[in-house]
Amino acid sequence: MLKQALLYTGKAKSVYETDDPDHLILVFRDDASAFNGEKIAQLDRKGKVNNRFNAFIMQKLADAGIETHFEKLLTPTEVLVKKLKMIPVECVVRNYAAGSLCRRLGVEEGKELNPPTFELFFKDDALGDPMVNESQAIALDWATAEQLAQMKELTYKVNDVLSKIFADGNMMLVDFKLEFGVFHDRIVLGDEFSPDGCRLWDKDTKKKLDKDRFRQGLGGVVEAYEEVAARIGVDLSDI
Ligand code: ADP
Ligand code: UDP
Repeated sequence: MLKQALLYTGKAKSVYETDDPDHLILVFRDDASAFNGEKIAQLDRKGKVNNRFNAFIMQKLADAGIETHFEKLLTPTEVLVKKLKMIPVECVVRNYAAGSLCRRLGVEEGKELNPPTFELFFKDDALGDPMVNESQAIALDWATAEQLAQMKELTYKVNDVLSKIFADGNMMLVDFKLEFGVFHDRIVLGDEFSPDGCRLWDKDTKKKLDKDRFRQGLGGVVEAYEEVAARIGVDLSDI
């Protein structure tokens, strides 16, 4: 598959067309950003680590019967994916309170959420990714009620599969964000799953092993991502 024109430069990845209209190449860069692009940095190795991490997770999800856009790793920073028509909402499941939920509702960080919550956010940098509800997403034609129902079901299924994988590595999957798109009329999981888009804590010490290390200036960001990878069996030895 030949890499062709640059379609889009995001905050962490670049998206290229290929010679096949059904496929794209995503390039994972070392760029890190937080607070809607207010804090940015280059973190050595992050692109390679997240590309390999994401490939591992997408394979696990496919094994569990969840259709994803992942096709194959091309280089340490590049992945071939199905080209989706992205639905501009982020699906967030939370197992424990953290981040914006704590800020918004005054809840203590770490409080268990039983059952886990499901939230939608409009993907729009200029507006700061505001929270939206299903009726807004439907009325604004971002997705149909049926598509939203599928996205919600799939996000909870991803939560079940991944909570177990991380628990086996003695970690808590606190929360995470997924993005879906449409491929030939089917809802398919797109974008990435990596420590950039979730919160993971060590079960015993509650040490943060995710992008909150960058947000909060805790240091050792990529080292933490590598620790998570090692705990769940992602092979990073050759990158
Ligand atoms: P952002 O756009 O939030 O800055 P990234 O830097 O990760 O994020 O950019 C990657 C972009 O590619 C995102 O906008 C994402 O929605 C989009 N994307 C991810 N997977 C696919 C796909 N399979 N098909 C089309 N677009 C995709
Ligand atoms: N998240 C993300 N991209 C976003 C917003 C959130 O990957 O644009 C992830 C974030 O890393 C966390 C979860 O979604 O794992 C919930 O984020 P939250 O709403 O708490 O927002 P934040 O505190 O990150 O602003």
